[in-house]
Amino acid sequence: MRMPGNFARDSSTAAQLKSNEKGHLGVSIFSEILDIKLPYSTIIDYAHASLLRHSKSMFVEIYRRLSPVIRATIDIALSQQPFPHFFHRRMKSFKDLSFIKATEIRNILFYGFLPIFHQHLQHDYLGHFALYICAMRLFHGRAILGPRTSDIANDLIMKYYQDFSSFYDGLENFVLHLHSHYERQYRMYGTFSHLGSFGQESLIGYIGSNRTGTTHHGDNICENYGIDLMLHHQIENLYSYTNIVDGPFDPDLNFDFKSNDSIIDFYNAECNCKSITCCLRAFRRYAVKQRIYHSLIYKHRQKSVSYFVRYCSKNNSTSCLFGKILMFFKFSNSNSTYALIEQYSAQGLFSDLFISTTYYELLSKAIDHLFYVVSKKCSLCHDVVIVSQLSEHCIVFDCEEYHIITPVSSYDEHD
Ligand SMILES: [Zn+2]
Ligand SMILES: [Zn+2]
Repeated sequence: MRMPGNFARDSSTAAQLKSNEKGHLGVSIFSEILDIKLPYSTIIDYAHASLLRHSKSMFVEIYRRLSPVIRATIDIALSQQPFPHFFHRRMKSFKDLSFIKATEIRNILFYGFLPIFHQHLQHDYLGHFALYICAMRLFHGRAILGPRTSDIANDLIMKYYQDFSSFYDGLENFVLHLHSHYERQYRMYGTFSHLGSFGQESLIGYIGSNRTGTTHHGDNICENYGIDLMLHHQIENLYSYTNIVDGPFDPDLNFDFKSNDSIIDFYNAECNCKSITCCLRAFRRYAVKQRIYHSLIYKHRQKSVSYFVRYCSKNNSTSCLFGKILMFFKFSNSNSTYALIEQYSAQGLFSDLFISTTYYELLSKAIDHLFYVVSKKCSLCHDVVIVSQLSEHCIVFDCEEYHIITPVSSYDEHD
């Protein structure tokens, strides 16, 4: 395991001998400036350190080890995978890695890698990289494992770092070491989805191209930050300034309620008026907190999949279920909106894949909360759920014998 001491020794050797020591060419000028420890002195930007540097070099290395036939299969799966409509970028095939964007690497790392590669890599090798994927997802999203989320993420990342040299040569570099500071950073500044530097890069770029004849860029940026902060404090409810209002929209006036037994049963239990067609109204889409869910009766969704969701069960709010939203509906005399869902039941645990590896115990603490193995056959009767039970959009990977489903990690990251 390469530690700070090794990095320091390698760089001073390189400086003395004017040589290349494991990628070090000399002592960095930052070694004098940064006399306060990471991450107290500087925030490590995960998009640069983890996505553009570490993950990208790992993808190159893993891809290199595959046979040409498997590479081709994987490239097709990566480039054709659908995502929810609000993803501005999806995934790129590995043969185009030199042109890849950080968001595309994030999508591969967080969502696509395990479902697409799990049938092509040896389990202990895959298990080792899964440690990294799970850790990064835990650092990135909301605290799905409660107050212990960052502890577990750190256990995963440190095991990954420790065992790294038994799987790879020459990649154990400084960016990998930076990951050992992530837990502290998470405790101090929160989830990584709020720490990206791309929003700031956009703002600086915007100022760069819209400045009017000044050379005082620094002052300009500060002023704009000031205005931005002030506006955010002034506007009580940002959502009210957009066109999207929470609730169902896009009504389907021709929906045939009598064709669906689950709706008829639900209607009979809830309402005793005379006519189901007068009483219920159907909708194609539904918005909540600027998130829009589609249903299968919404025909303009193109290739996006925003109708596959995770939702909580009525009786037990800790257990989660998966399904496709067929449509939304509302009673004329009430404000609650309901979703009609075609349910897909769980079929084993994703961690079972790693049962023979040394990583099983550690991985199973996190991986079964991030990746779900779900049957390809839907259950016979449909579920009617109130929309507040919907928890998030899911990305669904179509494997031969099952679906692998993973929920969206964060909704509010700059894309
Ligand atoms: Zn360090
Ligand atoms: Zn009624």
